[in-house]
Amino acid sequence: MVLSKGVWQSENVEIVTRFAPSPNGNLHLGHAYSAIYAHDLARDAGGHFLMRIEDIDGPRSQSEFADEFRRDLEWLGLDWDEVPAQSTRFDSYDAAAKRLLEDGWLYRCSCNRKDIEALEPRCGADGFIYPGSCKGAQCSLDGPEALRLDINRMMAALGECVWTDEEAGSVVADPREFGDVVIVRKDLPASYHLAATLDDAVDGVTAVTRGEDLFTSTHVHRYLQELLKLPVPHWHHHKLLLDDDGQKLAKRRGSPSLKDRREAGEDGLALAEQLRLQQMRSGT
Ligand code: GLU
Repeated sequence: MVLSKGVWQSENVEIVTRFAPSPNGNLHLGHAYSAIYAHDLARDAGGHFLMRIEDIDGPRSQSEFADEFRRDLEWLGLDWDEVPAQSTRFDSYDAAAKRLLEDGWLYRCSCNRKDIEALEPRCGADGFIYPGSCKGAQCSLDGPEALRLDINRMMAALGECVWTDEEAGSVVADPREFGDVVIVRKDLPASYHLAATLDDAVDGVTAVTRGEDLFTSTHVHRYLQELLKLPVPHWHHHKLLLDDDGQKLAKRRGSPSLKDRREAGEDGLALAEQLRLQQMRSGT
């Protein structure tokens, strides 16, 4: 962390980081770890820190959770400059998707999960790798359509794309483990990949910090930046906080939420200090 801060300061680039939770449940300790990481990286260098609410997911996103996120971060002693919300940005997702479609990088796909499973696809970084049956409109395209990225065409046209990660160094982007990933969902104007990539550019994020479980997604994001001519940030994929069994902390595994801890009277500032110590120990 210290090293990269030094690099940026000497390059005279203002650091802008973001914590980007999805309001479909309460935050847990792993989120606190991630929020502190992004917050401190920016604040220690006099930069900006945003909390972006990733609420594109219709009924699964609830504003009550976003309200709790604010309380959680305050309790941890973190402050932020802005709280942009993805639900206010659908027009920009539409415009970008339209451009990608017109430029021939996307194709329409009406397959559902069952259709894809029937083709016995290979498993990739994010579930099944789509075998491309709708490419070239060989299928009937009945019903709602998603838009998929034509990975092979894109890689052949753009050649090698490189990105820089604090831990991994220089990384050659290789999105093939995602296959022709969904860029526009059937029910929404964007997938996570499109929305997050556009927003990081719009928000002026210079350092994308997130858990190492999202490392592979960056291969897709880096190519999207190239297609959409967006600025290229620096990435930090930090270690994940694990539970006693070595599993990733997650709501579904019953890790206590920050809200529960806060309401039980726990000291948020002390907790934040403890997590900072863990970050130092794990070297992220
Ligand atoms: N909204 C994502 C999540 O809650 C984070 C995505 C990101 O940091 O790029 O897991």
